[in-house]
Amino acid sequence: MKKLKGLKCVSCGHVHAIEMIYECEHCRGSLDIIYDYESIFTENVSDHISEGGIWRHRSLLPIAANTEAVSLGEGNTPLLRSTALEVEFDQAEILIKNEAVNPTLSFKDRPLAVALTVAKQFGVEGVVTASTGNTGVAAAAYAARAGLPCRIYVPKGTPKEKLIMMEMYGAKIELIEGTFSDAYLVSGQEAKKNGWFNLTSTFLNPYAIEGDKTLAYEIYEQYGGVPDWIIIPIGAGPLLVSCYKGFRELQLAGKVAKLPRMVGVQAANCAPTVQAFEKKLKEVEPWGYSNQTVASGIADPLTTYPQDGTRTLTTIYQSEGCGIAVSDESIMHYQKWLAQKEGIFAEPSSATAIAAIEVMKEKGFLQNGDSIVTVVTGHGLKDLKSIR
Ligand SMILES: *Cc1c(COP(=O)(O)O)cnc(C)c1O
Ligand SMILES: [Zn+2]
Repeated sequence: MKKLKGLKCVSCGHVHAIEMIYECEHCRGSLDIIYDYESIFTENVSDHISEGGIWRHRSLLPIAANTEAVSLGEGNTPLLRSTALEVEFDQAEILIKNEAVNPTLSFKDRPLAVALTVAKQFGVEGVVTASTGNTGVAAAAYAARAGLPCRIYVPKGTPKEKLIMMEMYGAKIELIEGTFSDAYLVSGQEAKKNGWFNLTSTFLNPYAIEGDKTLAYEIYEQYGGVPDWIIIPIGAGPLLVSCYKGFRELQLAGKVAKLPRMVGVQAANCAPTVQAFEKKLKEVEPWGYSNQTVASGIADPLTTYPQDGTRTLTTIYQSEGCGIAVSDESIMHYQKWLAQKEGIFAEPSSATAIAAIEVMKEKGFLQNGDSIVTVVTGHGLKDLKSIR
């Protein structure tokens, strides 16, 4: 594919050829796809407009022009003005990007649709992933759509609703004792053994995370520009990092002048990246405490890959954003509040992005006139235990 220049290591800068690899061969750093933007921006892209959702932006995805998309109609989710939030927090403008209405009810459909399309491009025989739940659900559905077998490694505490969905879509599930980080290690060994494509949604798969950029393109189009702040719940943080990359591409294309300030939100009980931000550190350390939280979808202690947290932290600093930790009580409060005030039922991991506004306000990050887009990443029906 001419438009792809290579896979660049974010740590040492070495550029690798476009292949099915997951880390830098020199320093094991994570990889970032680099494009020949000049050719992309001068090319006539009108022929992509007929495709829906994320595929309208195919020219900025690692997909050849003639590859058939593995799609279930992901993306093109609503950006909703929230007067209730504006009143609650005395802010001029707050909008909700509701990712809960994607085909498998979370934003993970964006990266997984791209990943399964790339899997077909590479001609792999199967796919593997570690997951806190939503990646597994999306991987299972898109693997079914692609006609590929799918094996998923999840930590034992994963919500039952998510496990049922994975099973329904025909994936093979392995429950792992321990945290997401333990599942991450086992899935990596498994993918290697079989030569299957590893879709794990840390920064491991450089192709999958490109799908997250489409969130930026949609916010730009629907908002009609760039909001001051974008609030995103983060595990390792690829959604935040890729969303920012999407805005940088819009800047390179000459469409926007400024960039948004990125806010990464974690549950206070599992907050390695936010802790590093609060201590003004340059690097994230693994979370050494218990990681029990109602926000299971973002509970990633980064046990053997703290550098993934560092990649997200670096983006937060670059964008002049911030890291925010929220308590489980506040998450549960705003989950119910959002459902009752705005009719949006978010899962606990996603309600963190509402609870964060209160903390940002308290800590003095917000001016009243600031515009805010907050991202509801997944649907409440997928995680009912905390509500029961
Ligand atoms: C995966 C996930 C996140 C975090 O996204 P990352 O890109 O992995 O940091 C946030 N919310 C929900 C509901 C998720 O499933
Ligand atoms: Zn490197």
